[in-house]
Amino acid sequence: EIYSSFLGVPIQRLGEKLGVLVVQSKQARAFSDDEVYALEVVAMVLAEMTELGAFVGEGEALAALHKQPVMFRGATGQEGSAEGHVWLHEPRVVVTNPVADDPKKELKRLNDAVAELRLSVDAMLTMNDGGDKEQMAILEAYRMFANSRGWMRRMEEDIARGLSAEAAVEKEQSAARARLETVPDPYLRDRLHDLDDLSNRLLRILTGQGADTGAEMPPDPILVARNIGPAELLDYGRRLKGVVLEEGSVGSHAAVVARALAIPLVIHADKITTEALNGDRILVDGDQGIVHLRPEETVASAFRDKIAMQAAAQSRYASLRDLPAESRCGTRVGLHMNAGLIADLPSLAGSGAEGVGLFRTELQFLIRAHVPKRSELVAIYARVLEAAQGKRVAFRTLDIGSDKVLPYMKRVEEPNPAMGWRAIRVGLDKPGILRMQLQALIRAANGRALTVMFPFIAELDEFRAARRHLFEEIERERHLGHALPAKIEVGAMLETPSLAFAPAEFFETADFVSIGGNDLKQFFFAADRENETVRRRYDMLNTSYLTFIEQIVTRCTEGATHLSFCGEDAGRPIEAACLAAMGLRTLSMRPASIGPVKHLLRRISLTELRGVIDAARADGAVNVRAQVMTWLSAQDI
Ligand code: PEP
Ligand code: MG
Repeated sequence: EIYSSFLGVPIQRLGEKLGVLVVQSKQARAFSDDEVYALEVVAMVLAEMTELGAFVGEGEALAALHKQPVMFRGATGQEGSAEGHVWLHEPRVVVTNPVADDPKKELKRLNDAVAELRLSVDAMLTMNDGGDKEQMAILEAYRMFANSRGWMRRMEEDIARGLSAEAAVEKEQSAARARLETVPDPYLRDRLHDLDDLSNRLLRILTGQGADTGAEMPPDPILVARNIGPAELLDYGRRLKGVVLEEGSVGSHAAVVARALAIPLVIHADKITTEALNGDRILVDGDQGIVHLRPEETVASAFRDKIAMQAAAQSRYASLRDLPAESRCGTRVGLHMNAGLIADLPSLAGSGAEGVGLFRTELQFLIRAHVPKRSELVAIYARVLEAAQGKRVAFRTLDIGSDKVLPYMKRVEEPNPAMGWRAIRVGLDKPGILRMQLQALIRAANGRALTVMFPFIAELDEFRAARRHLFEEIERERHLGHALPAKIEVGAMLETPSLAFAPAEFFETADFVSIGGNDLKQFFFAADRENETVRRRYDMLNTSYLTFIEQIVTRCTEGATHLSFCGEDAGRPIEAACLAAMGLRTLSMRPASIGPVKHLLRRISLTELRGVIDAARADGAVNVRAQVMTWLSAQDI
């Protein structure tokens, strides 16, 4: 080794490492802090120039970033595949002037921008005063950073050394991102994310590049974001071909909206917002939870084959649209759809659904920043009933709490929210909103038939009390001289095992029961539906569970109660067929599942399938999936 000294600093931009900048000398020497600092600034400028494409071409030490194909392995938020071009929810701010000649001027620009930033944070705090606690905590953290002396001092020093104001902000942001990678503590990570957001705001103020950069949305946009709220996602609406998020969860509101819009969603695509640029080509595989950014042609063409196959299947399903879901043994199963947004309604005609088996009314509450007014609800419910054109719509009253937290509701800290104060429990303890909602439903029906379903009923008394509220509201409306529903059906969701063992009176008074399989399954197996580690551990085709379903069928038959199933399992063809074989005659599912479920039901005999399940149970099988699959393949299905 001929050199006796070494100094190396990373060349990095927003947490991405591009390389290392090294100086060495033959003479042995120590490097001063100032020298280290100077080299860091040079590295920063190099990184910026790389981003701007200064070093493209063969054999360059720094390859141009954001040109290579990258694959992201995330998780499924909503199935489906799409090909399109990236549309960043928060586009990257591009710094075109990393160095500046006049530090005084830059310092003033920085100070002005920070002052503006502080004002805007204060304004947000005032606006949110007394509102959501979590939001307040974030804003407080913003304020803390915006007033942080250390943060300011480091940026001022960078400017004194010749960086432009925006480059100084970005250098701090890069450092925070680099730290983010090494911090395991979730609380600290959140705070570093806050700092990142704040830096972005500051960069926008400095560069004048708003969220609206003037870029034109591609015709086939795939939205890429760190996370997104349900209302924002809904604003993009059906224009989007797909959504990719760095964060998010299967049960998040964004996922609920993506489902309503029937677009593929991949969550947990780590660092995609750093890698993707507006307009990049992107393939989203919602089934596998995979994203290909700037894909190679071979990958793209294989992907297109997959999309074409799915489209072919879709058109096969479309040809079944007006045919009944009648099995080979002559049993008819009613297929309904789940909905919750006005955006869902076009699917009612397109999917061939016989009605809406579950209308999740909380979604209208989740996508707003305030409690909707009664008049707004009346208008929404009336639109739903009009779109349904006489088909039955089962309106489920508010199911809030647990994973569905309203942005404007005081959050109650609960150790186990899924088993906590949620759904009808909230409705009965604080009946104001429930009654307002019931009133809105009666008014929206305006003389038409009305179907109301109460969520999460665990015992007969809760059903009695909820039903009483409804009939009292009807009385009130009669008093006020309003039109009353021509016919009223009142049902309960069976989501806790306890209800299956309720006194006979429950089954006799309920006009119908709908099994909420998502919740029922989590409580039957004691496996959290939101927890990735255990979510898929237990199979619906477990014989204990099927036997339990059979018992519910029996109790409903005895009470002459109409029974349906509206959890996610109803939309999986094999699960749906087994539910039908166990005696379910109405299934409610995502609109996109109706075709595949009907296609399978029409090709099999439910009597035979029941025979397969019964034989497996008699043999002591834990699960009937293998037997069912063998039986299906024997018929070339
Ligand atoms: C269910 O629990 O199965 C259900 C349909 O309700 P949600 O998914 O809204 O809890
Ligand atoms: Mg439920």
